[in-house]
Amino acid sequence: MKNFDLNNLVRANVQTMKPYSSARDEFKDFDVAQMIFLDANENPYPNGVNRYPDPQQNSVKAVLAQQRNLKTDQVLLGNGSDEVLDLLFRAFCEPKVDNVITLPPTYGMYGVLANINAVENREILLSADFQPEVDAILAAVDAHTKIIFLCSPNNPTGNSFTDQSVVTLLQNFKGLVVVDEAYIDFSNKPSWLNELDEYPNLIITQTLSKAYGLAGIRLGIGYASGAIIAVLNKIKPPYNVNELTQQRALERLADTEKIQLEIDSIIIQREDLLKVVQEVAFVSKIYPTEANFVLIKVDDATKRYNQLIAKGIVIRNRTTQPLCENTLRLTIGTTEENKLLMEVLKSI
Ligand SMILES: *Cc1c(COP(=O)(O)O)cnc(C)c1O
Repeated sequence: MKNFDLNNLVRANVQTMKPYSSARDEFKDFDVAQMIFLDANENPYPNGVNRYPDPQQNSVKAVLAQQRNLKTDQVLLGNGSDEVLDLLFRAFCEPKVDNVITLPPTYGMYGVLANINAVENREILLSADFQPEVDAILAAVDAHTKIIFLCSPNNPTGNSFTDQSVVTLLQNFKGLVVVDEAYIDFSNKPSWLNELDEYPNLIITQTLSKAYGLAGIRLGIGYASGAIIAVLNKIKPPYNVNELTQQRALERLADTEKIQLEIDSIIIQREDLLKVVQEVAFVSKIYPTEANFVLIKVDDATKRYNQLIAKGIVIRNRTTQPLCENTLRLTIGTTEENKLLMEVLKSI
């Protein structure tokens, strides 16, 4: 990647600011067990969570880095990937000056976060087969374009983007390219994590909310160069990942076999559901999916959505999204839930 200069991308106030220093940050090299901590106004009586959590979440990061063959300084943890995405806006996008590019139909949070941060969101629609229009994207870039958001596999369409389109953007855009891999564990394609050393402008986000089954604890992950992660660390709230979340994440991350069994079972369920959906008369198209959901086109999305609600099944009506007229998004549930869904689809 030629001409990539991270310092040109960081907001001026972030470059010059002094980060908040938490009490525990300053003593991380000491033997903590041997010390008495009277510095943070905590209640001293132990109950498991009376102390502030590790602000750098070193134990969780060490496991993730080891499992993904990265260094811990390439890992940032957030209160869900939504926080990681928000930190990217706050670190790199000057309100009312800079812009980002997103590719609808896609995950709604990019646009919401752009709005909250008063950053222009340049929307370049995906092609009819839901791939990035690379030429149009590069044509929309100007001197104030800081980030391009790629969601692959994409929500709500379910497909992943071609390697060629991602590589072309990484090579030709001098800002940051975020690849949101919330659904990567359901795909046969390799993660872009393998390319981190190749592209200094690549940021990958993942989450424990989907395949890892921990949506309730809110743990999102950003992977990037040590230099990018250092900028985000500088501005993140000191205790952004709480102690209970760190503990539950560590327990679950140790259980790689169980996680893989659940993923395998969800994929089998997905294929079973697809077979049944093919036979449903009001379904006109099933979009290829590499995620734990499937987007289908039907005769009348709102009517079918309401019929499913009446049968007690809540799905997502995506009909108002661009290129998604009359589409519904179905999440893969348990075997029992899917059986019920399939029966209802056949009966209405
Ligand atoms: C569900 C989802 C996420 C997860 O967000 P969390 O804040 O980590 O729960 C991120 N990106 C996409 C595209 C998603 O669909």
